[in-house]
Amino acid sequence: MVAAGLRLGIDLGGTKIAGVVLDENGDERAVRRIATPGGYGEIVAAIAGLIGELEQAVGYRGLPIGVGHPGAISPASGLLKNANSICLNGRPLQRDLQTALGRPVTLANDANCLGASELFDGAGVGVCGLFAAILGTGVGGAIVIDGRVRVGPHAIAGEWGHNPLPWPRPDWDELPGPNCWCGRRGCIETWLSGPGLTADHRRRTGTTMSAETIVAAAAADADALETLERYEDRLARALAHVINLFDPELVVLGGGLSRVARLYRQVPQRWSRWVFSDVVTTRLAAARHGDASGARGAARLGQSLLKRPSAV
Ligand SMILES: [Zn+2]
Repeated sequence: MVAAGLRLGIDLGGTKIAGVVLDENGDERAVRRIATPGGYGEIVAAIAGLIGELEQAVGYRGLPIGVGHPGAISPASGLLKNANSICLNGRPLQRDLQTALGRPVTLANDANCLGASELFDGAGVGVCGLFAAILGTGVGGAIVIDGRVRVGPHAIAGEWGHNPLPWPRPDWDELPGPNCWCGRRGCIETWLSGPGLTADHRRRTGTTMSAETIVAAAAADADALETLERYEDRLARALAHVINLFDPELVVLGGGLSRVARLYRQVPQRWSRWVFSDVVTTRLAAARHGDASGARGAARLGQSLLKRPSAV
């Protein structure tokens, strides 16, 4: 039996898979979260299992399903590309999920899902120009223009994590920068992801701490505070580049590092130096739906929020 108005969304991340069932009012009727398993086949099975659990929890089967994932489905090959969870790359994720579930599944980039969620009923309601950035295991981005998430002919619109960190500082060892899994060096993701923050702290202090521990320690530990300040400066430079490109009114942050409250004070203070304007009114805000925003946006995928070239 299909329930009118219920939609199911999955957010496939590097460390966790989140799932939600939304009703027609946007209320969460069921929520589940599991750790992301190690291999590709295990990930497909875990998503199918999570969908089964969610449908059982709400008492309906056959709900419309959207899945947000890192990277993009290549329009040329239908295979996944650009994912920081590299076991996904080169795989026919949509086909395999549809085979496992026996029904159609809509897929989209995870940052695009964040953008769609925040645009629909989050921090970006009514905003024409919005950049949504994920700062998590990886770094991704989405561009919203005139109320639609842009996808682009290569499905890479907003893929900001593998641009180089702008205005690099040699005194902070930013040139040529760390090796990135994509084959280049010094990508924004190597600085602004959670593992990037951990690696920067380790290079400067010799101490290995998780991103979460560094943030917690910054209140009392001078080394941790310096690491966090370097992070804020790099985020300000990276976002100033985005603001100079399409002048959004709002930047929304998602992912684990979006929970760091001081970013919303410190980063706008720092980005003014790099934005090519006399005044900067761009707002920086956390995703209103927090960790749930990616899965909520995935659940919205059937609601025509993503703008593909054919729909222009
Ligand atoms: Zn890269």
